[in-house]
Amino acid sequence: MAYFANIIIDISHEKLDRTFQYKIPEELFAQIYPGVQVNVPFGKGNRLIRGFVIEVTGQAEFDEDKIKEIDSVTAGSVTVETQLIALAAWIRQNYGATMNQALKTVIPVKQETKTKEKRQVKLLLEEDAAKEQLAIYQKKHNTARARLLEELLLHKEISYEVITRKLNVTAAVIRALEEQNILEVLRETAYRNPIGHLESKTYDLQLNSMQRAVVNRVITDMREGKNATYLLHGVTGSGKTEVYMELIAEVIESGRQAIVLIPEIALTYQTVMRFYGRFEDKVSIMNSRLSSGERYDQFLRAKNGEISIMIGPRSALFTPFQKLGLIIIDEEHEGSYKSETLPKYHARETAIQRAKMAGASVVLGSATPSIDSYYKAKTGEYELLEMQKRVSERPLPDCHVVDLREELKQGNLSILSRKLQDLIENRLAKKQQIMLFLNRRGLSGFISCRACGHVIKCPHCDVSLSLHNRNRLVCHYCGYEEVAPSVCPECGSKYISGFKAGTQKIEEIVKQRFPQAKVLRMDFDTTRNKDSYERILSSFSNQEADILIGTQMIVKGHDFPNVTLVGILAADLSMYVNDYRAAERTFQLLTQAAGRAGRGSTKGEVVIQTYNPEHYSIKTAQNQDYHAFYAEEIQLRQLLSYPPVSHMALLLITAKEESLAEQMAVRLANVITKASIKGLRIIGPASATIAKVNDIYRKVIYLKHSDYQSLVNLKDRIELFLKDKAEMKKINITFDFDPMNGL
Ligand code: ADP
Ligand code: ZN
Ligand code: ZN
Repeated sequence: MAYFANIIIDISHEKLDRTFQYKIPEELFAQIYPGVQVNVPFGKGNRLIRGFVIEVTGQAEFDEDKIKEIDSVTAGSVTVETQLIALAAWIRQNYGATMNQALKTVIPVKQETKTKEKRQVKLLLEEDAAKEQLAIYQKKHNTARARLLEELLLHKEISYEVITRKLNVTAAVIRALEEQNILEVLRETAYRNPIGHLESKTYDLQLNSMQRAVVNRVITDMREGKNATYLLHGVTGSGKTEVYMELIAEVIESGRQAIVLIPEIALTYQTVMRFYGRFEDKVSIMNSRLSSGERYDQFLRAKNGEISIMIGPRSALFTPFQKLGLIIIDEEHEGSYKSETLPKYHARETAIQRAKMAGASVVLGSATPSIDSYYKAKTGEYELLEMQKRVSERPLPDCHVVDLREELKQGNLSILSRKLQDLIENRLAKKQQIMLFLNRRGLSGFISCRACGHVIKCPHCDVSLSLHNRNRLVCHYCGYEEVAPSVCPECGSKYISGFKAGTQKIEEIVKQRFPQAKVLRMDFDTTRNKDSYERILSSFSNQEADILIGTQMIVKGHDFPNVTLVGILAADLSMYVNDYRAAERTFQLLTQAAGRAGRGSTKGEVVIQTYNPEHYSIKTAQNQDYHAFYAEEIQLRQLLSYPPVSHMALLLITAKEESLAEQMAVRLANVITKASIKGLRIIGPASATIAKVNDIYRKVIYLKHSDYQSLVNLKDRIELFLKDKAEMKKINITFDFDPMNGL
């Protein structure tokens, strides 16, 4: 059988999907895989040019006899592009997507906007000669030339843009004078540098022995050429960021580069400053506020070796460093590390894969590691590193749990418990700061009783039911349905509904209750503006306000030493989303929020308001006891075969005609059943939670298996089955492995 390679000639071009097919000569077959650079005959003259192998296939795209052969493999050509293309192939294989989608994720694409060139126009003539020339222009009524020369006589050097925009002199005129050697255009590529305006600080911090031990362990491994994935579990304020920086310093010392992934929301001025303060302009950042041109420039600077550290969210993972030595993923438990668009890759797994290809190490850090990662650390796949104490023995805050049902019984209808009100009063008097945190995650869908806290759950699954069409409750895992009750089945109260109080409402209540306090609010509405997020944070940091109210935005990565009280207004809101990770998220949010209290010299206090004081995620968060939480949670996952003990794949089948989607879902379920994979569980087909979006119907099949690879194999089998099916023109099918959101 003959094999063919699809080859891209120019990967820096926007049209990554333009591939050319070549035959693979038998003697080269073993050397050809995605990412490899090859020499191929191109065009009519069969000039040899370089291309990248994107895909290997047994299928000829056109008449086999007319397909040219690959000439040779380019010698010594394992470049960063080779690695990134191979990584794209890996992403495609493991998460399901087209090769083109995967490539676009991984390869920084040159946009139509060119890198900005900084141009200066400089006068070449001596002053006398210039004045003579000016006289000639004036006599000839060459007004534009005269205007330009006059100006150059005054300033000698003027920026090109000023001339064309302010002096209204055209590029043609400038070119003409350049050709006559009257002036010269100086060109210098100016990369846009998003943090070029920052100032560096001198760096003088000694790691404590706990930090030193962690650093030494990783550095020793690196020096011995051992590359591993480490999970750094360090309580909030234990000094993880300092550990990262020490490791980066070592990596740079050895002539290699580092990538630091940080959730976008935590990528604040404060964080960037810490890295910049130590590494100065070796650092660059990537975030969604940069223009595509700016992003491209940052990638170019990385590739050219101008910078050694890239900080950014998920996409920074694909920074084309030539000698990558280390990838750090801070707050590794964050859901935003999973892509929500195709390919639905997880940055953690993808980082580990990239590190493997580059011979780099990976450090995952968190105060509340994901259950996935901690499980892998426990089972030996990752190396576990623990830092259980805060820097300089600062104590963890005292944590009070308030039962909201009790408050209602005592006649307190306010959203602020009496305990919290007392403590706010106390802190305002002491001129200390307060953060009030509203857990809004999972507001969609579920309903609960305000009197007793009861939440309506599926009788078959341990998840809450979601409200559909105002009166139907549906389980997103098994499809179970019932009519929504009008009174609480537990206590008969008619106050049963979705929890609706938003941050704005809370701001009003707080202002009313504490008119003397200065209040800031941070949520989606107040941070829509480009810089408002930073502005609110720095205003609070400068102690221009007493109370900061916000959503999960406020719990990430800020150090406010004067905050001594954190109130968590409705801790359980995240507990009943239709997602097996609900308890994990609740624990993480509570622990992270509590960690904001008492970062300075004064001990902090935390108030957790909840309807479920007995729930293990609340109790363990109260004690900041990650290990106790993990022990409970992993047992549940085992019992219910949820990840990480088992794995899930979600197949989403969408079509404009419902019957088409349905029929396809049934056929796929058959294909899957016929594959008779041992230990596989199939749930569905069923309608997705959101059964219709924009008139497109959505059907789902959930697959569960203890072995991830079995699910990937199943995906391959399904892709094979779907190949060349005519109806696929009208149906769209996507995969999501270990999905982060129930669909
Ligand atoms: P984490 O990332 O674990 O929350 P940080 O690295 O932000 O912790 O450290 C918390 C605070 O302690 C920061 O203000 C940091 O500058 C300070 N810090 C960290 N390590 C040390 C150290 N060895 N000596 C003194 N201060 C430290
Ligand atoms: Zn009730
Ligand atoms: Zn169910």
